[in-house]
Amino acid sequence: MAMKKLWIWSLLLLTACGGGWSPWERQVIGAGQDPMYVTVLPLDSAILRTPSSEVSAAQLKSGELKELAHQMLRTVTHPSQDGVGIAAPQVGINRRVVWVQRFDKPGEPFECYVNVGLDSLFGEITHGPEGCLSVPPMRGYVPRYSGVVVHYTDLETGAVCRERVEGYTAIIFQHECDHLDGILYIDRADTVFVSESWARERQGLDYTRPAWWKP
Ligand code: ZN
Repeated sequence: MAMKKLWIWSLLLLTACGGGWSPWERQVIGAGQDPMYVTVLPLDSAILRTPSSEVSAAQLKSGELKELAHQMLRTVTHPSQDGVGIAAPQVGINRRVVWVQRFDKPGEPFECYVNVGLDSLFGEITHGPEGCLSVPPMRGYVPRYSGVVVHYTDLETGAVCRERVEGYTAIIFQHECDHLDGILYIDRADTVFVSESWARERQGLDYTRPAWWKP
């Protein structure tokens, strides 16, 4: 009985120390790569096709979440990537964390959303061009709604927030939330084609897996 109690306390202590992050997640975050390795098809399809889990209350307060968010932002804004959004599975972590560039706000800032999801879709359906850092060097025309209502967890208060977003930013939210459900834009696209400008726009982009990358 005493041994069992000791075992349970050890497990609780281990979980608390790790902030609820798995050894793999701590390895990716701890590697501190700048920019981070971006997962690609077909090599990393296991990660890209896995639905992501919620970030737990313990993880919300952890230094690892702040570090992950910081590294993801540096990756999506890196000149070699030049993206407008990124989701955690694209850096090897199946958690519901994304960055979205808010083209609907002054200064077009990047903002981080945790435990993000779509409550509803509304408005017209348009068929605009999309690409994805994880699907080089392709582009495609994808039907998307012009508006979404998103929910996410406020990092300061832990409360669930809801927001109505329209226009191009709403399309980015749809693309990034799809990533968290293991869905890629090529699954929804009317047409997919090789983009001649892809490589030109992303000179210096390195898709070499780090030596330690063994998910
Ligand atoms: Zn993408």
